[in-house]
Amino acid sequence: MHMTAFEGVSRGCSRFYRVYRNGVSMADKLTGLYPTDRAWEREGKPHPQRGVLIGGPGARRKHYDMTGLFVLHVGTATGGVWYLLTQPTNWTIWSLFIVGYLMSNFGFSVGFHRYFTHRSFETSKTMRYVLGIMGQMSAMTSVKYWTADHRRHHAFGDRPGDVHSPIVDGHGRPMGKVKGLLMAHFGWLWDNAHTDMEVFGKGLVGDEVVEFCHRTRWHWIAFSYVVLPVAWALSFGSAADIIGCILLGTGLRNFIFMNGVMGTDSAAHLFGYRRFNDDSTSTNNWFIAILTLGDGWHNNHHAQPRAASNHIGWWELDPNGWTIFAMEKMGLVWNVQRRAKSRVPLASAELSYPDVHDIPTKPSVMFPESQPAQALQDA
Ligand SMILES: [Zn+2]
Ligand SMILES: [Zn+2]
Repeated sequence: MHMTAFEGVSRGCSRFYRVYRNGVSMADKLTGLYPTDRAWEREGKPHPQRGVLIGGPGARRKHYDMTGLFVLHVGTATGGVWYLLTQPTNWTIWSLFIVGYLMSNFGFSVGFHRYFTHRSFETSKTMRYVLGIMGQMSAMTSVKYWTADHRRHHAFGDRPGDVHSPIVDGHGRPMGKVKGLLMAHFGWLWDNAHTDMEVFGKGLVGDEVVEFCHRTRWHWIAFSYVVLPVAWALSFGSAADIIGCILLGTGLRNFIFMNGVMGTDSAAHLFGYRRFNDDSTSTNNWFIAILTLGDGWHNNHHAQPRAASNHIGWWELDPNGWTIFAMEKMGLVWNVQRRAKSRVPLASAELSYPDVHDIPTKPSVMFPESQPAQALQDA
């Protein structure tokens, strides 16, 4: 049907007015908060799981955060590819790329993931600050939100309530394989389900170090994307390397690492082999293990989330685990959690995926033992 420009504009205006009258802001509409879940809201169903919220200020906050970070990552990574293809590179830039990659793994994989979420070890307040701040520099939300989200991922593991799963979306609705892969990788960033901090934020909300890192998160991103690359270029190269250090040494590097982390939620829940029959569909995926320096042995991790190392088979190399053991030797961390030998690997004939159609209606909300003592009391 042909529509004149005037008809188009007037139709747009009346739609805007309807939305406005219904108390839904344009921002909600633009961020996808509203239209995608219209059907769900019409049905009037709350989220079936405790610990998950739908819509409201929390969803809006999530959308703004994620959109800002998405623009930063994709923008600088695109610039990084351009730089790589059109400009001469040198060791000043590549050394920042490599050192930065190791720092991201240290802060994010060892810090956010193995320490703040799973408490694979204990450490000093100074080290908590170091891990938290270095994790913030990889520009993936804050230690507070990420840790709460990741607790929810382990609590529900591919059942309704999971934050990011290739099997069910944020509302617990089953998905096909392709949509599932995309939703688990990054689509979940813009769905309107979000984590109830009252349930999954115990021990995080109010924690001095966590709150500091959360409050100052954009400062660390600015430090990581501007101050550090400029200082690196001027210290080890020249002013001509500044753009390369920002776009290639930082932007593209963080983008690759972020895709490794997101790949742990998508590819390492779909492709790879399973050693343990844990509740989720997690797999050991060598490609993701390379990108994340060991976190891609995700089935080993889901089977025993508190273990400091994912290393079991000789090929399942886990540099992040080595880092923790090295810090233990140096006395920087202690109470390092070892993998329980009692967890018997499956015989190959028993290897199977859980039947995702046999989804329990009320899986209990299980906190990892990693909760600080006070949080356990509150729970
Ligand atoms: Zn997982
Ligand atoms: Zn985990």
